[in-house]
Amino acid sequence: MDVLLYIDGRWQAGAAGRRLEVINPATEEVIGTVARAETADLDAALSAAQKGFAAWRDTSAFERGKILRRAAALLRERIESIAVIMTGEQGKPLKEAKVEIGVAADTLDWFADEARRAYGRTVPARAPDITNLVLKEPVGPVAAFTPWNFPINQIARKLGAALAAGCSMIVKAPEEAPGSPAQFIRAVADAGVPPGVVNLVFGVPAEISQYLIPHPAIRKISFTGSTAVGKELAALAGAHMKRATMELGGHAPAIVFADADLDVALRVLLARKFRNAGQACTAPTRFLVQRDVYQSFLTRFAAAAQAMKIGDGADPATDIGPLANPRRIAALETFVADAVENGAKLVTGGHRLGNKGYFFAPTVLAHVPTNARAMNEEPFGPIALVNAFETFEEAITEANRLAYGLASYAFTSSAATADALARQIEAGMVAINDSHLSSPELPIGGVKDSGYGSEGGPEAMDAYLVTKLVTQAAG
Ligand code: NAD
Repeated sequence: MDVLLYIDGRWQAGAAGRRLEVINPATEEVIGTVARAETADLDAALSAAQKGFAAWRDTSAFERGKILRRAAALLRERIESIAVIMTGEQGKPLKEAKVEIGVAADTLDWFADEARRAYGRTVPARAPDITNLVLKEPVGPVAAFTPWNFPINQIARKLGAALAAGCSMIVKAPEEAPGSPAQFIRAVADAGVPPGVVNLVFGVPAEISQYLIPHPAIRKISFTGSTAVGKELAALAGAHMKRATMELGGHAPAIVFADADLDVALRVLLARKFRNAGQACTAPTRFLVQRDVYQSFLTRFAAAAQAMKIGDGADPATDIGPLANPRRIAALETFVADAVENGAKLVTGGHRLGNKGYFFAPTVLAHVPTNARAMNEEPFGPIALVNAFETFEEAITEANRLAYGLASYAFTSSAATADALARQIEAGMVAINDSHLSSPELPIGGVKDSGYGSEGGPEAMDAYLVTKLVTQAAG
């Protein structure tokens, strides 16, 4: 697998011919390379995006929608082969890779329809011969930075909305998992998107963002990744007055009240915690369980975690694949050691598995003190921190303690508790007795340090549209 850049409708090597290695996280073998963009390549992508924008903004919303729908159909046709590439480079089980590609296709379909609903409005005028029109126009060429945890879906959310709105874009996709994003872009190109409308680059992330964000051709930034990097990029975007969407880290509380259906809570939280080996910004992390059911929840959750099958994602029996890169292993080992040192009880897991591949045992820590690092920083791995609480107020205070505010979960059979919780929790998304957080038609985004803007639902289109007033007197 040798992945190329896609600029102005052509697949090409980087200007200096430099390449980066791609590693299979299950075997640690080098499975291919990815082209590294130089400044000359970025300049070419910027010119292409400007040219592409001129053509695409004048393409009718109906035609844009048709092309997006065709891209979705191509993804579904190619799902098996693309899933194999994704699993090989990112590690997630094949079945999860297929779900991700299916959701990406659904996302393109959703935005294909939203394209034709990017309505403006007329505003009643103060004089009889005046017409006030409020128009929605595409903002212009977009620079999108997407991470390795959902290599296709993170692009699909940005690209679907941007293209539906009439924007062109340059995507800086993850170097660790470049093959499946390239296949995604290929499907979009094969569907008939004109040259220059979509461009794909890889390279040194900081070099590319420092070059693209201030560039006058770029009118909009969208980033998904850690809060620390997001703050840097948001500051740079602000310095250059660029609109930005920031989908950043999370540290989701999962509150289990004593009146909850524990079977439902366990099923939902196990699936959400260990999906993609915990490398999801919406993964539940701080499990807050009411005292009466604490021990029973902890015992059952830990037993179920222990029973999960860890292995190469290519093996159909695998429940949890390897972590995506060795940085995560080192980070998780530090989190576990620090928590235990501070008095947490390690119930299961807590260590790397084997000495080949980035496998980490599903980990449950109990009685984790608030000062442990894992209780404050995003672990981004298969670690559940399970603590007890007594009262609603105690749970909500802990849930809102951190600067993160992305996803949150709660389980209760009381409508009053659910209602109070939904109002008081500081989060962009609240799932109560439920886990359906990531459908294309639903808003996705955070508050506080988890970022701003939404990447789902009709709100996602707003990020790529500007408002123009035309007020006109009869001539
Ligand atoms: P990282 O912060 O170095 O990188 C996160 C992502 O941002 C990567 O895709 C990386 O390529 C990109 N990036 C880093 N520096 C950049 C820059 N200056 N300009 C543009 N892009 C840049 O961390 P990592 O080790 O790759 O991932 C670990 C952390 O990242 C996790 O702890 C998690 O908080 C966060 N993360 C979040 C998401 C998410 O879905 N919100 C996805 C992946 C990683």
